[in-house]
Amino acid sequence: MVSTSDDDDDHDHENEGNEQHQRVTTNNNYLRKCLLCNIEQPLRSHHCDFCNRCVLKYDHHCPYLETCIGEYNHRYFWCFLLTTDILIVWSIMLSSGSFVPFSDWSSWLHINKFRLFAMHVLIISLCATTILLCIHSFFALTNSTTWERVSRHRITYLNRLPDEDLNPFHQGYCHNFFYSFLCHRIKEQQWDIVYKRRVEEHVTLSTTANKTEEKVVSNGVNHDSPIATKGFAVESDSSPFKLFDFERRVPKADDVFIRVHYCGICHSDIHQAKNEWHTAKYPMVPGHEITGVVEQVGSNVRNFRVGDHVGVGCMVDSCLHCNSCKKNLEQYCPDTCYTYNSTELDKVTPTYGGYSNFITVKERFVCKIPKNLPLDGAAPLLCAGITTYSPLRQYNVGKNTRMGVIGLGGLGHMAVKFGVAMGADVTVISTSESKRDNATKLGAKAFLVSKDAEQLKGAENSFHFIIDTVSAPHDVVSMINLLSFQGVYCMVGASPKPVEIPTFVLLFKRPIVTGSLIGGMKETQEMLDFCGKHGITCEIEKIEATPEQINVAYDRTLKSDVKYRFVLDILNAFK
Ligand SMILES: [Zn+2]
Ligand SMILES: [Zn+2]
Ligand SMILES: [Zn+2]
Ligand SMILES: [Zn+2]
Repeated sequence: MVSTSDDDDDHDHENEGNEQHQRVTTNNNYLRKCLLCNIEQPLRSHHCDFCNRCVLKYDHHCPYLETCIGEYNHRYFWCFLLTTDILIVWSIMLSSGSFVPFSDWSSWLHINKFRLFAMHVLIISLCATTILLCIHSFFALTNSTTWERVSRHRITYLNRLPDEDLNPFHQGYCHNFFYSFLCHRIKEQQWDIVYKRRVEEHVTLSTTANKTEEKVVSNGVNHDSPIATKGFAVESDSSPFKLFDFERRVPKADDVFIRVHYCGICHSDIHQAKNEWHTAKYPMVPGHEITGVVEQVGSNVRNFRVGDHVGVGCMVDSCLHCNSCKKNLEQYCPDTCYTYNSTELDKVTPTYGGYSNFITVKERFVCKIPKNLPLDGAAPLLCAGITTYSPLRQYNVGKNTRMGVIGLGGLGHMAVKFGVAMGADVTVISTSESKRDNATKLGAKAFLVSKDAEQLKGAENSFHFIIDTVSAPHDVVSMINLLSFQGVYCMVGASPKPVEIPTFVLLFKRPIVTGSLIGGMKETQEMLDFCGKHGITCEIEKIEATPEQINVAYDRTLKSDVKYRFVLDILNAFK
């Protein structure tokens, strides 16, 4: 028996919300240890806090009977419901004969009011017990329990199944009926055997079904050598993109292996490919706005299944134990591993980004893409989306916030969409009048031309919050002047030149001049869920993923000739 790492235990507590439990691994079977009872819990058992003991095949704790319903008494509980039902029907029949007949309605009501009341109580009880009886008959026939039905997403042995609807204990209705009502002996570990057999059957079935499409479907990890991957790379700061063959690591226990469908072209891809930040490592496969579909999951992965729509952003790993990591702010960890032009935690293995057909990523750094969002339009949310969403949340943008957005590019248009969805009063500030219509279409209430001194003068002291998305050098001081007292000026564009602000500008208005870097994984998921709820995606130009097209797209992005983000169609490039 091997106790798993602290890390795993943390996850487990989160999963089951019960600190007294610990998962242990025995011969590949996942058993749980109950530290209160000091026993290994067999599969389907659960510790009842009211009874203070572990209950086999736990169904629920019944407060009326003051006991737990489980393996040994579930059938008696069913009989109890049935007899109660019969008794109530009988009582209804008896009491219906006890009404005193009267010719006029009001006297009848007066004399019979208590009988009528009792009749109502009986009928309501009959409905309740009948519903319960039906539910428990259904459970008996399908071999499921209330606990497993209600808490499925939190139960480790259920939420990691490849199919959401798979009932791993269903053995056919006749068999279930026989077990539920007639069979008295329960063999030890019976559920383990049933579970294993059912899951294996299911996986074999889905693998054969999918083999025709030449698609690997896997419940565990089935690659044993590094995975051949194709991508697009630059070999120096001046070289064009070329096809590049490399290898992805074999998915480990907590890895998710993803087939990339789309990857956005972020402005920072260009900065890095051209070594403008002086940190480039070649060959470089850029891309950190990745969406795709899960192809495999490692044995410890709990939140993802084969076939899930997922996204990967700017980070693929971090130390997980520093203060930033503990606060779900992995982007501020001193050891953050970026998706490309970086290394894994070993500080040696290079990371390659999403301009490639596969990627292996630790579960914590993978996000779920809501089903209602298209994968192409969702790709830029993983960088442009979270970069603008995070500061809006940090500074409580909401109803009645007068918010300014400087620049209407990939970042800026996302800031407008989020601001509008959060209820803020959004003004777009841009160098060119030509963007006014687009700003209005995105929901902005007003538009300012930053080159027009008169317009700026008129708007002084009017914004609570300004998000500056421009990375080219520009006049920041006249923008800070637009803030009201103690307003927030947040820069998210990475300008290569230092920003100069005269001290007096800071003294007189006490503004908060700050910056923000992407967002933590928890917040990124929150942002994606927000997008799912409000139907927000990025406005994109989808292009073929070829070296030539990427080179053209880079040139056009530098000229701001894109509305608003290029997205590479990776799936079709490597079919
Ligand atoms: Zn217990
Ligand atoms: Zn109980
Ligand atoms: Zn980016
Ligand atoms: Zn850290």
